[in-house]
Amino acid sequence: MSSFRVKVLDTIRAGHGDASRKDVARETGLAWGTMFKTVASLIQDGFVFERTPLRNTQGRPSIPLCVNPDAAHWCGVDVGACGTRFVLCDLNFRILHQSETTTPRYHGADAFRNWLVEFLESSLEAARAERSRVKALGLSISGNIDHERGIIVSGGNWGVKWGENMELAPVGEKLGLPLFAVTTQNAAACAEYHFGEFAGCPNLVTIGLGAGIGSGVVSLGKLLLSQPGRPVGYIGHILIPGNTQKCTCGFTGCLEAFSGGNFLREVAQRRFPSRPELHDAAALDRAAARGDQDAVSIMDTAASYNAVGIAAMVQLYAPEAIVFSGGQVRADGFLYQSTLRHLEGILPKERRQFPIGISFLGTRQSALGAARLAYEQFI
Ligand SMILES: [Zn+2]
Repeated sequence: MSSFRVKVLDTIRAGHGDASRKDVARETGLAWGTMFKTVASLIQDGFVFERTPLRNTQGRPSIPLCVNPDAAHWCGVDVGACGTRFVLCDLNFRILHQSETTTPRYHGADAFRNWLVEFLESSLEAARAERSRVKALGLSISGNIDHERGIIVSGGNWGVKWGENMELAPVGEKLGLPLFAVTTQNAAACAEYHFGEFAGCPNLVTIGLGAGIGSGVVSLGKLLLSQPGRPVGYIGHILIPGNTQKCTCGFTGCLEAFSGGNFLREVAQRRFPSRPELHDAAALDRAAARGDQDAVSIMDTAASYNAVGIAAMVQLYAPEAIVFSGGQVRADGFLYQSTLRHLEGILPKERRQFPIGISFLGTRQSALGAARLAYEQFI
């Protein structure tokens, strides 16, 4: 069972080379027989080895278990609306190689899959990865993903219309790797839960502010995975009264149809056609921070919409920490600070008792989360 193997391997890794079988049984709560068999299978695969015990202890020395980080490597790819990032990790999730490219505008399933395979092949080559050690590929996709069937249902922010239903299996087949795909925010939440500032926090919410606006959830230590028809954290499509913008999803008035990076540009072009210097989300943010009233009028509205979505997540999941990430998040940025201000205005005081941070995982966040999910699926 891969879930036993994940539990046991995570515990051995956390022991930094000192965990004994007794420690593993205690920490994982697994029955002795199950634990013993799982450790044996991990040793057999070369993922774990027994270290020579120190002899100066009383009685029978317990044998410390260690992870062999080079025994298995994991790929993570994050296909964003603008950029696509690749990471190759070892069994301790140290990043061995990373690369980045521009996400092409969508022109059909075959063209996309061929492009993705080429990017992966060239990244693996640049990483000088020994192919037999690469065990699986995790994909994080900006859009609506059916992770059970490995299908991209839609990716509105990079041109994939709802119902496109692109199968990802051919990508895995061409590369000779098992593949697991989730949404960007699912991967982001996974990354933060395992590697971020609030790692191990059992009730964690992530917020992504970029071309799209999204959210991910870890609840009671469990990552909530989105499926079409039962989405998790799709705050970008909360309907905001008074918002007349048409969304990529087909509805009018979605949060991200105003606050998403591409839409901010559109709004600025329409409202202030004679001010081309504002026709870009990052430029708008900088101008608003300088006190430019045209920019402030747009960004403050965007921030108030963001706050509605984030407040909904707080009310639904009562997080113990919130982590922000994405191209629109800058600590000294107007949009980010203004979003927090609006959030404070909406939430009652007793609902604001949690720390808020900006992810230090940076642009690698979701690729790293995808690699971790591939490991959990296929170890
Ligand atoms: Zn929408």
